[in-house]
Formats: sequence, structure tokens, C-alpha cells
Amino acid sequence: MTLTPAYLVDFDGTITTVDISYELAIGLAGEGYEDIDYVYRRKEIPIREWLMRTAQVLPHDMDLLLSKSLEWAVIRPGFNRFLEHALKQGSPVIIASDGFGFYIEPILRKHGIFEQISYIYRNDTYINANGNLEVKTPHAHGICTVCGNCKALHVVNLKEQGRAVIYIGDGSNDRYGASWGDHVCARDQLAEYSRKYNFDYSQWSNFCDIIDVSMPEIKDRSESSLCCPLGKGIKT
Ligand SMILES: [Mg+2]
Repeated sequence: MTLTPAYLVDFDGTITTVDISYELAIGLAGEGYEDIDYVYRRKEIPIREWLMRTAQVLPHDMDLLLSKSLEWAVIRPGFNRFLEHALKQGSPVIIASDGFGFYIEPILRKHGIFEQISYIYRNDTYINANGNLEVKTPHAHGICTVCGNCKALHVVNLKEQGRAVIYIGDGSNDRYGASWGDHVCARDQLAEYSRKYNFDYSQWSNFCDIIDVSMPEIKDRSESSLCCPLGKGIKT
């Protein structure tokens, strides 16, 4: 029996119209964030390092961080229709996020769409025993230090289970997971990378566009992918 494809979906800037982790940083972290933003934009630190450093300069107050996340989160148009389509098609919708992560479930619950999500791979941000904000990355690769959440590994695992993967995202860090996708739905920076690396991709603006994407076959991406999640991680 052939399994229906899975949708692997980024959260920030994909399901939500803005990147909540970035909004928290620029809205609440104050001057301490400026140096972090500078080195990250110059690609001197990877996303995982960005998370760890930014957590140190954010207010160590989960109630404040969560209330602002809920206030700022807008779900991108078409997401409900897309979820209905995926359910009818028998395709799991799996979220993989490399942001602070704590706000994903509350935002989905607020908008009444948590139950339709098959699984969420996310980082864990919480107040530790010393009262400090801390980020744990339980889905990081064992060797590679680039991503906090190894989305490429989730894509590869789904393919090994016999599901083709449609990767949906917006950001530059999505390029690693997307490079393993059987088809990529890309917007913003991910669309630029999709052109640069010749991914099999469709441009999208809202989730209704993704309903029209036809189901791909499983393809071997081991040569063209940007990283080896079952090996050492990033290809140099
Ligand atoms: Mg994103």
C-alpha cells in the first residue's frame, strides 16, 4: 500500500504571518539584542547559537513572553482549509520549528486548530531552577551545530517510513530540511534558496496555494541535499 505524502510545516513566518521568536527578540530583548542580531545577520552564528544568546537577553518572564506571543500571532490565510484538505487526503501535518517553541501549542489552541496537527517537533524554552530563561533543543543533531531542531532528520525519517514529504517553509534555515523534501513549497528567503539550489519547488503566498500542489513520489535526495542528518550533518 502506498502511503499518502506528509506535510512538514515550519511554524514562524509560515503558519503565522510573522516570526514570533524574532518579534520577541526585537520587541522585548532591548539593547542587549543588537549585538546578537548583528552577528546573526552576518552569518557569524547559526540559529542554535542565536536561540541560546537571545534567551539570555529576553525578560525571564514566561507569562509576559506567552501573552505577547499570543497577541502578535496571526494565522496565515488558508491554513484551516489546508488542514481540512490534508485530513481528507489522509496526509499527516507535522510542524517542525526552530524558534523558542513554547508558544506553538497555545497559539494553535487559541485558534482551535491544535487537534488537527499530527505532531510537533519544537525546542523547549522555560524558566530553569535559577530563574533564568533557558532553551533546550531535544531534536538537535548529535554532531552538527547549525540547527536547534534537525528538520532534515524529520524529513528523512518520514521518507524511510514510506511517505513522500512536501516541505512548507519561508526562512533561510528551512533550506536544510527542504533539500530533502520531495517537493518544496517556498516563500520569502526559502524561495530564494530554492532557486539557488535548484529545489523542485512551488512559490506560495497563502495555504490555499498548497492545496493545489500535486502529490510527489519519494525521491533520493542524498546527492543534492545540503546536509546528511543520518551522518555528520552539514555538508562542507
Ligand atoms: Mg519560518
